[in-house]
Amino acid sequence: MLTALITGGSRGIGAATVRAFASAGYRTAFFYRSSESAAQTLAAETGAYAIQCDIRDSASASAACKQASRLLGHIDVLVNNAGIAQQKLFTDITDDDWHAMLDTNLSGAFYTSRAVLPDMISRRYGRIINVGSIWGQVGASCEVHYSVAKAGLIGLTKALAKEVAPSGVTVNCICPGVIETDMLSCFTPDDLSALAQETPAGRLGTPEEIAHSILWLADPKSGFMTAQIIGVNGGFGE
Ligand code: NDP
Repeated sequence: MLTALITGGSRGIGAATVRAFASAGYRTAFFYRSSESAAQTLAAETGAYAIQCDIRDSASASAACKQASRLLGHIDVLVNNAGIAQQKLFTDITDDDWHAMLDTNLSGAFYTSRAVLPDMISRRYGRIINVGSIWGQVGASCEVHYSVAKAGLIGLTKALAKEVAPSGVTVNCICPGVIETDMLSCFTPDDLSALAQETPAGRLGTPEEIAHSILWLADPKSGFMTAQIIGVNGGFGE
């Protein structure tokens, strides 16, 4: 049976991805940081294993990957989805803001990918799917640190894909546009309606639409698709 590990699975896009993989018959595990109750509810609903882990911490991420591998038997699919966002003028970004952003959105994916890859390489099969952002592709005003972290994830995707392709492992990056999750809680209803109007599809995306594209990339038949940066954005920012 195929297996999947999803980071940031307690809410939003991650939770929709856990549901999509569990429904598709994957044995599934997911990481969460602080949303204990949401994580346990999702685990009970889907049968997935919930594992507490702070992705910013190398030791925590590596121990949690080992635990996931023990519970699942092995890991076929890793979805690096955990992330945070923040809106600030560039000159107001503190050192702590900067490090928290890069540690969560970029270093976390490095720690988990490094932990699961040796086994994927020895089994000659694996799928790593990073969740980037349209802002990593085009840059966003007042979100420079977020844009930098997501652009880094795009670089990680392209370079790592080349390194591990001969071992049967694919690495791709899904870049969502504006998706209805808690991450948008800093926006007013007027802001959200403006963002929907700016999106050629005329609406915001849903977490399920992102989960669907992740599941498609994870499919064993998607093995010739690697090093790709794929926008799922309703035409936004294109
Ligand atoms: P949410 O804020 O809804 O969920 C974020 C998830 O990440 C939660 O499960 C949270 O866990 C987890 N997380 C955050 N920090 C850590 C950490 N240090 N260690 C472990 N887990 C952590 O976000 P979305 O679902 O909207 O976003 C998911 C991904 O999609 C992110 O990478 C985001 O940047 C990206 N994205 C989202 C867009 C959007 O419009 N929503 C647009 C483009 C990209 P917990 O709740 O337990 O703390």
